[in-house]
Amino acid sequence: MPAALLGTAVALVAAVSGAQPAIAEPPTVDKPECPVGLSCRFIPAAYAQTDPASPAAYGNYHKADRPRDGDDIRYIVIHDTEEHYDRAIARFQDPHTRVSTHYLIRSSDGEITQLVHTKDIAHHAGNYWFNMHSLGIEHEGVLADGAHWYTEAMYQSSARLVRYLAARYRIPLDREHILGHEEIPGTTPAGVAAMHYDPGPYWDWAHYFDLLGAPLRGASFDGVAVLAAHVSDPPVVTIAPRFATNTEPLRSCTANSCTDLPSQGSNVIYLRTEPSADAPLVGDPAVHPDGSPGTTRVADWSARAVAGQSFVVAGRRGKWTAIWFGGRLAWLETRVSAAEHGVLVTPRPGRSAIPVYGTAYPEAAAYPATVPVTTVMALQYTIPAGQVYLGVEPHRGDYYYATFDGGTMPGDHTLVVGNRRFVEISFNHRRAFVDADDVIIVR
Ligand SMILES: [Zn+2]
Repeated sequence: MPAALLGTAVALVAAVSGAQPAIAEPPTVDKPECPVGLSCRFIPAAYAQTDPASPAAYGNYHKADRPRDGDDIRYIVIHDTEEHYDRAIARFQDPHTRVSTHYLIRSSDGEITQLVHTKDIAHHAGNYWFNMHSLGIEHEGVLADGAHWYTEAMYQSSARLVRYLAARYRIPLDREHILGHEEIPGTTPAGVAAMHYDPGPYWDWAHYFDLLGAPLRGASFDGVAVLAAHVSDPPVVTIAPRFATNTEPLRSCTANSCTDLPSQGSNVIYLRTEPSADAPLVGDPAVHPDGSPGTTRVADWSARAVAGQSFVVAGRRGKWTAIWFGGRLAWLETRVSAAEHGVLVTPRPGRSAIPVYGTAYPEAAAYPATVPVTTVMALQYTIPAGQVYLGVEPHRGDYYYATFDGGTMPGDHTLVVGNRRFVEISFNHRRAFVDADDVIIVR
């Protein structure tokens, strides 16, 4: 599901007195960007001001010229709508919602509707840095229902679309670059708990990557907690449950009561505070600020590792493995198969703990006077000395500034690239960033 954009020009409304009301663009005939043979159409998302006096107040996406303008497309983000196909389209056509997606796929038959050109920045991830660098694909569905909505026709259509987009934009077909919305971090401490958790436990990542022609790393085993250890020191584990038989408990809750969701295959591995099946689930300071444990509520992602995610091993005890997860130790049952993995990072010697971020924007000095500065805020997490995380990708801080086309805002459509460097890491249920100067590479 799309989240209202954060940290964008819209939040930085600069009222320019005397600005001329923008002229709406003439309607154009848009062709969908889709692989040959898929049922695909283009219905444009709204592109309109919500305040005629301000070119900074508009929905539902930013015009851009990716990747030619230097703002490259690095990720594809998988969502579900939590509403019916036609209602989702109507929402994306209402500029007051300020949300959009590049593509939407129908559950019953896999039909695709494109709403935003891939060159433009859709507002789908709830994190503007990830919006800048991603394409969003919504899937008609209700995540707590799972397979009822996530049909084979939908998986096949989505996988063909992703293969086409990944080839066109040279996006690696791996879980580091094909992400769930639930893996996107918040941009501020206050925003973390409200981040969405779609497509959720019942999206079959392993099957999806088989259809992508890029099977997930790590053998899968029958049983509850299974993963693959990688040949490195310290080792890395990849979460690899066998979807069909991995019927982990999940509950759906209202304010007053909870009900168990019907048993079905899931991508979930639960993480515990001690190496025991009876131990509490790990908590998260954003979801459980009082320090209480995680739960099996479907909305509670505190203690959930997801198929295809990888983490660094912190220790072993019998069949239990400890990983560094969200700044703490988390335990899970493991079985082992060998594979290679990437770069590992740890706090620079002499640092007792380092901050964790949800964005990779440039340093303030990099912004020209015409572009408002968007700062990188530390989240409510730290990484203590001695912990090790998997480095996903290095990034140079960047920020794309856009206001409504036809407005007269200075600095419109500027890509700001700074000198500050970040390392994206596999942190907890979600991604995160650390400052490259705060870490060293373990290997
Ligand atoms: Zn979403």
